[in-house]
Amino acid sequence: MKQKKSSVLLIYTGGTIGMMQDLVSGELKPFDFNSLTKQIPELNKFAINLSSIAFKKPIDSSNMQPEVWVELAEIIKANYDKHDGFVILHGSDTMSFTASALSFMLENLNKPVILTGSQLPIGIIRTDGKENLITAIEIAATKVKNKPIITEVCIYFEYKLYRGNRTFKYNSSHFDAFKSPNYPALAEAGVDINYNNNALIKTNSKKLKVHTQLNNDIVVLKLFPGISKKITSAILNLKGIKAIILETFGAGNATTEKWFTDELKKAINKGIIILNITQCSEGKVIQGMYETSSHLKKIGVLSGSDMTYESAVTKLMFLLGQKLNDSQLKKQLISNLRGELTL
Ligand code: ASP
Repeated sequence: MKQKKSSVLLIYTGGTIGMMQDLVSGELKPFDFNSLTKQIPELNKFAINLSSIAFKKPIDSSNMQPEVWVELAEIIKANYDKHDGFVILHGSDTMSFTASALSFMLENLNKPVILTGSQLPIGIIRTDGKENLITAIEIAATKVKNKPIITEVCIYFEYKLYRGNRTFKYNSSHFDAFKSPNYPALAEAGVDINYNNNALIKTNSKKLKVHTQLNNDIVVLKLFPGISKKITSAILNLKGIKAIILETFGAGNATTEKWFTDELKKAINKGIIILNITQCSEGKVIQGMYETSSHLKKIGVLSGSDMTYESAVTKLMFLLGQKLNDSQLKKQLISNLRGELTL
């Protein structure tokens, strides 16, 4: 069968990859996308139809907002049938949040959406941006028997392709900036790009469904020894919150002091969702493994298993934005929707 030439859409949102140094202040600031393509003439050598869309005002990803995730999801929806794959150029600071959010927003995704960026701007000789961008495009374009290998939202960085909603940024100065401790890399780029076929989400034939309603009425309570009743209660009683992410110790453990359990119970009785995720970057929450987590399970705290903080935040925003009743929402929160958790 003759393989059709792939078509990839490059979406430029900003980030270091497209920044340059302000000559006066020395700060890194986003620059215009046309300069980026001029910096990588190699892009013209690909046997790929490459098109691009650039944000009018590129952003440092620390300015990322849910509205931008909606904009990205809508760009992908509008261009879905015209392209075989999508590459999103994005700052690394919040790349894992965007990848996680998009994974939930793009239901039944059947094409690759690869986010990448760099630690050094593309104009700098030692930049990591060129390799990241070129390989991300190659992965987004790769098909076998006219079908894409990757059908999920991923991050490609420093020779590794990861499931986006399993990652977090762990290093602000190394090229190898991301980790996916609870799920293996989906591919590794060396002389060849080797895909870990068993780890990939399998293609489905359902139609893409794009969700654009997100609700950010959530708060995070990160535990530490000595956390006070005054502060805990102030956070749990914030007006308007619908869900709380409880960042616990180890395998999902927390103090068993009565005031703490009572405060959580009061919040749950008011209909607030409490999701337990661990402060450890590897391993998972197992409520009931220790006495220090059994009380949480008993009062209805939900286990986030091995979800990353980034996935927990965006999954809650996504589910709270759907028209779900309380039990549907809770059921989906602890289910594996897009490969984000291990059951
Ligand atoms: N501050 C930058 C950003 O996230 C860092 C990067 O691009 O890696 O946009």
